[in-house]
Amino acid sequence: MNVLVLNCGSSSAKFAVINPVSGQEAVSGIAQRLGSKHASLDWKRNGSKESRPIPGAHHEEALRAVVALLHELGLADDLVGIGHRVVHGGSKFSGSMKITPEVVAMVEACIPLGPLHNPPNLLGIKVAQELFPTMLQVGVFDTAFHQTMPPVAYTYPVPHEWLEAHGVRRYGFHGTSHRFVARHALTLTGLPADDHAIVTAHLGNGCSCTAVRNGRSVDTTMGLTPLEGVMMGTRSGSVDPAIIGHVSTALKRSAQDVLDVLNKKSGLLGVSGLSNDMRTVEEAAAAGNARASLALDIFCYVLAKAIAGLVVPLGRLDALAFTGGIGENSVTVRARTVELLGFLGLTLDPALNAVHGRGQHGRITTGMRPQALVVPTNEELMIAMDTADIAQSAS
Ligand code: AMP
Repeated sequence: MNVLVLNCGSSSAKFAVINPVSGQEAVSGIAQRLGSKHASLDWKRNGSKESRPIPGAHHEEALRAVVALLHELGLADDLVGIGHRVVHGGSKFSGSMKITPEVVAMVEACIPLGPLHNPPNLLGIKVAQELFPTMLQVGVFDTAFHQTMPPVAYTYPVPHEWLEAHGVRRYGFHGTSHRFVARHALTLTGLPADDHAIVTAHLGNGCSCTAVRNGRSVDTTMGLTPLEGVMMGTRSGSVDPAIIGHVSTALKRSAQDVLDVLNKKSGLLGVSGLSNDMRTVEEAAAAGNARASLALDIFCYVLAKAIAGLVVPLGRLDALAFTGGIGENSVTVRARTVELLGFLGLTLDPALNAVHGRGQHGRITTGMRPQALVVPTNEELMIAMDTADIAQSAS
């Protein structure tokens, strides 16, 4: 029993065939550089990697190539469903949903909120429906986990008509990851399911933190879009919005151009001037590069402030879970952040911090409560589990 998980982005389509019970991946891969002559289908199976050129392929041809591959590998016949990552579900979805024409219409209605992500997500759904017309298709929304936030957390202090007429509110993202990591952290810490206060820190190319009270998101750092919150690889995170007016006047550029810079050329890349990759920034900082050093300092400082801020809705902190490429791998970011949060009762255990990394979960602080820990995320598995749950309840 397997689930095909699809994550269609603007120029790539990630896929994986996963057993939702064992978590085992039969194959995983990516069709990338779509629309270019260098488009390729790359996959990993039983530890070995393979690649196939699909020159000029767009999403449709790429997904056909993925399905052809699944047939070749004998993986197309025992699928119980297809789980689609959908980035923006607005306030329409508080959980994963079987895809129906009504659900497709609601995802379409969210396009103004997720103009870059929802169209390729919808394309993936459409093509998968054509290729597997009788198969269960499920939408798993990045925003859904955060629909439990109370109005005090999701309402911006702006004219209320903006919320009512244009949906201007905080939605939050990375929900699938935060949900998976909070669940796993609960198992690892042995905290009671009905009485826990956890902050999950998803630190990858995009970064966000969430306050999880008794399994529910009560606040998160991202907002209307994934630009708000902590510093990221290329995104600034929260800044004074007056910067947009100031810089667009100073540089004679449109507000949209400045917003693009805040999304694509800021964060670690903007401050260091070197890279959006934390590994490069850490190496340069260690070699004495002052701007890389400043970028690393700001990253940890802003992160620690955000985590501390999320203790307000929780009322206390039982556990802080680090995940994502940086959260799982950067010994330095974890150490610095935990040290800045010492006043909450967290004390780093440097030996434990050094051994826990990607694929290796565990506590990195001394003492049991509060504790900081590394919890590798697995959004694809969470999507597969949701799809299998819906398949089971439908049968
Ligand atoms: P993700 O989006 O979750 O795949 O995370 C990607 C980010 O993880 C990259 O931009 C890197 O900055 C970061 N990363 C991966 N490995 C390491 C590492 N060993 N040390 C520091 N950062 C890392």
